[in-house]
Amino acid sequence: MPEDSALIELYEEISDCPNCELARWRTQTVPGSGPVSAEIMLIGEAPGAREDEQGLPFIGPAGKFLDELLASVNLSRETVYIANVVKCRPPDNRDPHPDEIAACQPFLDRQIELIDPKLIVTLGRFSMARWFSGTTISRVHGQPKQVDGRYVIPMYHPAAALHRGSLRAEIMADFAQLPELLERALGDQSAPQSQLG
Ligand code: URA
Repeated sequence: MPEDSALIELYEEISDCPNCELARWRTQTVPGSGPVSAEIMLIGEAPGAREDEQGLPFIGPAGKFLDELLASVNLSRETVYIANVVKCRPPDNRDPHPDEIAACQPFLDRQIELIDPKLIVTLGRFSMARWFSGTTISRVHGQPKQVDGRYVIPMYHPAAALHRGSLRAEIMADFAQLPELLERALGDQSAPQSQLG
């Protein structure tokens, strides 16, 4: 459980959510993990079997690889916030449906508002779609843009990189940008308003 009372309240609301069909299949909801003070927020797709069992995001094979990627840039899951587009496991790990994503969006909106990260990393096409529409992940991965006073950088999903070896080097190179990008984001925040934009 998080320490922040607003996050606790949000997690409790998520745990009772009946707003889409996925509620019927879940063992439990997987709201997210990490401190409310995190400067970096990573957003994946949906919980898988292990996550559904334990209530924590990215703890299966893709999560192991995510830990390696974080460690490669001296980050760890204790210092970043990790969430998913949908908070319940889709049956047989199918893609989340548009109505399920829409039903869960208010929860993700509130997480973004509460954490207020300087940098958002989208993992895979479902979380990318909110900020990068009308394009493909192979075109835009690793190319950050500024939205609402923060940077958003799209990346491949770690599970895709696990299954397609050629993507491994690409996701590692994209992660390698994070320290510099975070520094830029923090620098922008301390700059006088006239220097922004
Ligand atoms: N894949 C995701 O997108 N999220 C998880 O939590 C686990 C696997």
